[in-house]
Amino acid sequence: LFCKFVTGELATDVVAESDSSFAFRDINPQAPTHVLVVPRNHYANVAELAAASASETAGVFQLAAEVAKREGIADSGYRMVANTGPAAGQTVFHTHIHVLGGVSMSWPA
Ligand code: AMP
Repeated sequence: LFCKFVTGELATDVVAESDSSFAFRDINPQAPTHVLVVPRNHYANVAELAAASASETAGVFQLAAEVAKREGIADSGYRMVANTGPAAGQTVFHTHIHVLGGVSMSWPA
């Protein structure tokens, strides 16, 4: 599914793009800002991404930081989450980082 957003085959609400990464709004937002950042290339989860490519891993985090700036949450603070595997509740197996902000959060939920 997320591969089709990256190629433009399916439309989505794009927030930011770089050579290696792509950011779009989550369809079921859990915070005022809820953006997903994905590498353009397909990896099932962050462990696969990290094992395959240091530069693409960095690219995801760099675009997430850019998203936070554009959304105006860089200074107030935000959370990044990468659900990995069934026990974490990962439902889409094209790795993605959730960028959540615009609300005051407690930890862990
Ligand atoms: P998870 O795999 O649990 O980390 O989360 C997958 C996320 O993808 C959820 O927050 C969903 O709301 C989101 N999602 C699923 N389908 C779409 C879609 N078509 N467009 C945008 N976000 C989606």
